[in-house]
Amino acid sequence: MKQQTVAIFGAGITGMICLSVFLCHAVAAQGQVENIKPAEVTNKVYVSQIWDDAILNDLRLIEILKKYKAKATFAVDAGNLTEKRRTNAWPVKGTMFGKVSIDDIKKIYSEFEVASHGLKHKGLPKLSAEEMQREVVESKRLLESWLGRPVKGFVYPGCPYNDAAKEAVRAAGYLWARTCENTPDFCPVTDPMAMRTTVGFNAANFWQEFDRVKAKGGVFTFWGHAFFRTEAEWADIEAKIARLSQDPSVVWVNTSDLFDPAKGFCPPPDAKK
Ligand SMILES: [Zn+2]
Repeated sequence: MKQQTVAIFGAGITGMICLSVFLCHAVAAQGQVENIKPAEVTNKVYVSQIWDDAILNDLRLIEILKKYKAKATFAVDAGNLTEKRRTNAWPVKGTMFGKVSIDDIKKIYSEFEVASHGLKHKGLPKLSAEEMQREVVESKRLLESWLGRPVKGFVYPGCPYNDAAKEAVRAAGYLWARTCENTPDFCPVTDPMAMRTTVGFNAANFWQEFDRVKAKGGVFTFWGHAFFRTEAEWADIEAKIARLSQDPSVVWVNTSDLFDPAKGFCPPPDAKK
């Protein structure tokens, strides 16, 4: 194949138009057309990532994502945000992180998909039905008013969920709700209100899982918090985003796209092959 490609280019090929994943047409200057299957075209991997908690570190992460043209979904606890950025507002294992401002959501996060992470980051199962509804409904309303577009996803604050939480999220009009659980096979999605990701961003088997999905093609979705304390951690996440973006098999997608049957990333749950 390599020899064939070289020979065709040697004959005066001026361009290559890819009409499908599997087949490219090389167009010669003289108008002759050759069908070739380039060796570098592989199975597609549809990659989504979700970052939780709307912390100030997200802003540096967003610069990295933009540098590599990566899509991402940010899970925002709208009720914990104020007009101004707040430093030392979010304690995590002995380190204080800051929270972004409402203005950041309107101006900076608006270039990305935004999901609700509840109003006040309260674990839903412990709440009364009334409190639970307020967390899922009011957070959606606030985010939509700031962004001027529908908010389709929900991320369970602190991870726990139960049937009542799933029903509250569904009733509020969300398309999907993410848990903190993993699954080796994202598709088919049997319960969009209990979405599982492939892996956490800092999991030791991150690339092993990616390579496993890539071998057959499909969906690879990961999540995390930008709780980075050291430059080494920033270098690690930038290297991950760069490697994914530079992989020709990767197509970045918004998380909501995975739940849109029209996009076709997953077959319907009842599809039998
Ligand atoms: Zn959280």
